[in-house]
Amino acid sequence: MAPLFADALDVRLELATGFDTDTFGSFSREVVRQGNQLEAARNKAKKGMELLALDFGIASEGSFHPGAFGLFASNLEVVVLVDRLQGLEIVGQAEGPSHHFHERLTTRDDLEVFARKAGFPTHGLIVRPEHDYDPRVHKGLTDWPALHAAFGEARAQSRSSVVCVESDLRAHMNPTRMGTIRRATQNLIGRIQSTCALCGRPGYWAVERVVGLPCRDCRAPTGEAQAERWACVAGDHFEIRDLNAGRFADPARCPSCNP
Ligand SMILES: [Zn+2]
Ligand SMILES: [Zn+2]
Repeated sequence: MAPLFADALDVRLELATGFDTDTFGSFSREVVRQGNQLEAARNKAKKGMELLALDFGIASEGSFHPGAFGLFASNLEVVVLVDRLQGLEIVGQAEGPSHHFHERLTTRDDLEVFARKAGFPTHGLIVRPEHDYDPRVHKGLTDWPALHAAFGEARAQSRSSVVCVESDLRAHMNPTRMGTIRRATQNLIGRIQSTCALCGRPGYWAVERVVGLPCRDCRAPTGEAQAERWACVAGDHFEIRDLNAGRFADPARCPSCNP
């Protein structure tokens, strides 16, 4: 995030230290996140502003969503800018693939096969004895000796000799997430650079899709977007931007032609 902000906006980011962001919720199940994803990001940004005594704060928060093929199939990252001086907030976001692998293992051979499949050691792993909520957890494993040691210890603690091994989803352990956070940050910067024509505030952006793109065959309105509503963060100005420009919806998506 820091190089992107430096290049695009000539802004230097300062890292707030001295607090554990896991207290806002963790992916490894020890702490349940309070509030929604955006609230969690906003709370982190405000905590950082408080610690550094700054009027601007930026924080990110990720979430994982189920899909057809797994528990954590897709990853949504939001990055929020809180501006205390103007009392405004701008939110960037991006969606990406989830890099979450999870298996119950008993042998070192299976561990090695699993770890390679899970992108280890570039992507970190978590090891627990017995079950997914066991508090005896080894997090942030990123080298083979540490992984083998944690696995051996967890297997000795496990009455069934089963060890639960899964991807560490924390951003600094998961380059797949880092890539999505980078794209969410680029989205945020694009929004900061887009200003309202009326008041000049940053964050002028599409807030809503307007559906009704006409069908190519029968011209009936469909559920496809035909316009976007753009709005100022201060609410003083909005416009409808036409996306139609002679485009038509595929009749396969038309409620009349393909009910
Ligand atoms: Zn405005
Ligand atoms: Zn039609």
